[in-house]
Amino acid sequence: MSLGCDLSVLEELTSNAKQIQDDVLTKILKANTNTEYLSRFLEGSSEKELFKKNVPVVSYEDVKPYIDRVANGEPSDILSGKPITAFFRSTGTSSGEKKIFPANDNFEDILLGLALSSLVMSKHVDGYKQGKVMIFKFIQPISTTPCGLPLAPSITIIMKSKCYRSPGKRSTTPDEIIMCTDPKQSMYCQLLCGLVQRDEVVSVGALFASVLVQIIRFLEKYWKELCSNIRSGHVSDWITDHCCRDSVSTILGEPNPELADLIENECGQESWQGIVSRLWPKTKCVETIVTGIMAQYIPALEFYSDKLPIVSSIYGSSETFFGLNVNPLCKPQHVSYTFLPNMSYFEFIHVDADGEATGEIVDLVDVKSGGYYEPLVTNYSGLYRCRVGDVLHVTGFYNNAPQFRFVRRKNTVLSIFVESTTEEDVLKALDRATVVLESSDLMLTGFTCFGDVSTVPGHYVFYLELKAKVNNDTNVLLLDEKVLVEYCCVMEESLSSFYRSLRRKDGPIGPLEVRVVQQGTFDSLMEFFVSRGASITQYKTPICINSVEASRVLEDKVLARFFSDKSPTI
Ligand code: AMP
Repeated sequence: MSLGCDLSVLEELTSNAKQIQDDVLTKILKANTNTEYLSRFLEGSSEKELFKKNVPVVSYEDVKPYIDRVANGEPSDILSGKPITAFFRSTGTSSGEKKIFPANDNFEDILLGLALSSLVMSKHVDGYKQGKVMIFKFIQPISTTPCGLPLAPSITIIMKSKCYRSPGKRSTTPDEIIMCTDPKQSMYCQLLCGLVQRDEVVSVGALFASVLVQIIRFLEKYWKELCSNIRSGHVSDWITDHCCRDSVSTILGEPNPELADLIENECGQESWQGIVSRLWPKTKCVETIVTGIMAQYIPALEFYSDKLPIVSSIYGSSETFFGLNVNPLCKPQHVSYTFLPNMSYFEFIHVDADGEATGEIVDLVDVKSGGYYEPLVTNYSGLYRCRVGDVLHVTGFYNNAPQFRFVRRKNTVLSIFVESTTEEDVLKALDRATVVLESSDLMLTGFTCFGDVSTVPGHYVFYLELKAKVNNDTNVLLLDEKVLVEYCCVMEESLSSFYRSLRRKDGPIGPLEVRVVQQGTFDSLMEFFVSRGASITQYKTPICINSVEASRVLEDKVLARFFSDKSPTI
């Protein structure tokens, strides 16, 4: 399908979801039935019924040995009829484990999904098409598998592929800067380009909200230097990447003291409330994913952008592109993603409210409104009925394609005794407790947690990075013990009734603890994961920390500790 498309393509895809899914499965089976993996179950047949009857539902661990064999140099046809030409590395940061997924060199479908998402934005956001987008993107150095195939996060592989089309002048950042693999130089130059072209910017964003918040913090640190570069027309000497330097210098142009004064005036104000709209006055929206674990950043982004609409536009993973948000200006809580039936063959395991599979598996068009499901992906590059591990809730249909709200990643994130506290439980508690922080003008800018079983009884620990809404002269965070203890109590009150029952006096779970960490700690945590190969663009702060080294990064920066001082009500 051509990428020079219009929105009729979206109508066509979603109206013919059933037929397209059928065709996708036929195509995948024809191309792959003789692979070592499928032939065990299908013996050369490409019958769909046989596929559903014989091919097992698997999780990543089940296919990992096959993937590893290809990565180690055995032929692609172990898994895929088409040559496997690269591997996508998923972030997988919560467990510290990194998954790799086979890819072939055809990314047209993914690029079509992105193009459609941009068309949807143009339709809903006045003036979007006429202005420039300042969407921060980062690529990683490409490493290789033992047999020499490229291995990197999907965004890096796709942007380096021959299919990729540059947004050209639609973006404030030239590709040469995005291609720089030094994240600090890249971030600095992307900001500089965006500031110089501030009057043209209609949208500010990054794929995930955690990254956008990091970028605003980076701006807090570097605005004086950025202004000095604008004033002199000279890029700082530490920008040594030649492509970056040449490209940003061209955009910077002649010395511009008026612009430097203007930016200095905005950034130098006591409060950074609304800084995004102040620096980029024509911005219509903030484009960044704030669903799932990213919801924790909504208050911070609302603060910085003075409540511009926050748009979560796409839902995708290393396994496949799933879908897009056809109603981009809706409130973050109402975001649903419409699945695109041409991306992969999708099936859904029905799950109960706890995320446990009930056994029923249905096709894309057969999911029921109101139901909860975990998607299974059969794609063109060697995954067959592979569980993704996300829980989705059907909110309706767009034409004949279902729309899903992202509920959470499937795994329990905290469990001290036998209780199962999920990502959704944690986010809900955090959301309720935000009121306590707001009452004392504090803002949450980063958070993660872990179950501390080194104490008896074990207890939940939340690391919080806080920021005063109004900067004081010393920038010292004033922590009121009463407020933080109350915060702990409200968190506990908001957790499940089972958790609360286990927290009774002398029960198996001890008082919930909050450890307030220094500002910048979550930047260090990101740097830690990036140094271990995580992609900056795809980086998501892990909701729960399981690795000893990562918790050391946090522990070194703890400023103060607070505990809940009463048993929650049962
Ligand atoms: P990765 O393979 O590293 O790109 O991570 C993919 C995972 O990120 C998905 O399975 C989801 O759990 C999460 N994710 C991706 N897009 C979204 C989204 N729009 N909302 C919430 N979570 C998302």
